[in-house]
Amino acid sequence: MSEPARAAVEAEAARLSSKGLSDLGYADAELERAARLIVRIKELKAQKNAVIPVHVYQRPEVIHGIADFVGDSYKLSKLCSETKAAAIVFCGVSFMAETAKILSPDKTVLLPAPEAGCSLSESITAADIRRVKARHPGAPVATYINTTAEAKAESDVIVTSANAGRILRKLYRDHRKVVFLPDKLMGQNLAMQLGKTPGKDIILWKGTCIVHDNFDSASVGLYRRMYPGVMILAHSECSPGLVSVVDFVGGTGDMMRFVESTDAPFYMLVTECGLGELARTRFPGKRFLPMCRLCPYMKAVTLERVLAVLEKPSAADAVEVDPGVQDRARKAIERMFEMAEEGGK
Ligand code: SF4
Repeated sequence: MSEPARAAVEAEAARLSSKGLSDLGYADAELERAARLIVRIKELKAQKNAVIPVHVYQRPEVIHGIADFVGDSYKLSKLCSETKAAAIVFCGVSFMAETAKILSPDKTVLLPAPEAGCSLSESITAADIRRVKARHPGAPVATYINTTAEAKAESDVIVTSANAGRILRKLYRDHRKVVFLPDKLMGQNLAMQLGKTPGKDIILWKGTCIVHDNFDSASVGLYRRMYPGVMILAHSECSPGLVSVVDFVGGTGDMMRFVESTDAPFYMLVTECGLGELARTRFPGKRFLPMCRLCPYMKAVTLERVLAVLEKPSAADAVEVDPGVQDRARKAIERMFEMAEEGGK
């Protein structure tokens, strides 16, 4: 492919700067390097009739440079099921691209970083779930979306951090016991929220997110003394100890909506660093304090790798899911869409 025109690169670099990347610390040379790649990606994307969904934890130049839509797992999986494009280039991790493939089996789904896994999705296998089900017959299995296609296929309903409480509440209308997999900390938080006892009426697994597992609740008091009025928000994958001392708990979409609708002197988003960067660009008038960690899986996606996958995808870049697994996993995801959106609390 030929070098992009100088004017197009300059215009793209100026656009990135206007989106807030200069304020995040991008130097002019970095903006120009990103702009050169973005111009080429956009040309190829149009030629190949592709869409690019981007998770909120991705790098700012990926989010602001090439995303057709930006969001959390729920929003991205829903939008992927609705797109008419021939190909989906998923800027996220493996389980997300698999979810896109399950919902769009006729489309080509490409993952620019095929090795990008997730500590939660790797914590449990389909065989593990079958063993849990055998130990708790009749208990519905609600599985967090951060799991492999095989794990989803063994589940009754998929949930996200945004809708887990709502869906579990509905399951408890007809069941005394529910299995929630694989995030132990989110499960403990749900148990507290719903008044359930882990091991008795909510059965949990041992998986954790390497990003959210280790935040220290002791530092919350220190930040409150240093920054009076600070509003502290934590992701629901954080520990119950932390969750019990913050001002708001939820998924990434909930956290962004909370920031948008409130007016505090400072905000602290206890989650992956990408969300804080996105918040700083979306709400330039608000002040954000750092308390975040990088997810190495999410950060494996770069503009160079997106361009490479569009130019010449290898067999490893294309996401494939066994048709039998796909069918059963899709039913569990569709059950989530129904239960998350149907009426009732
Ligand atoms: S942030 Fe945690 S849950 Fe999300 S992809 Fe990374 S390891 Fe998985």
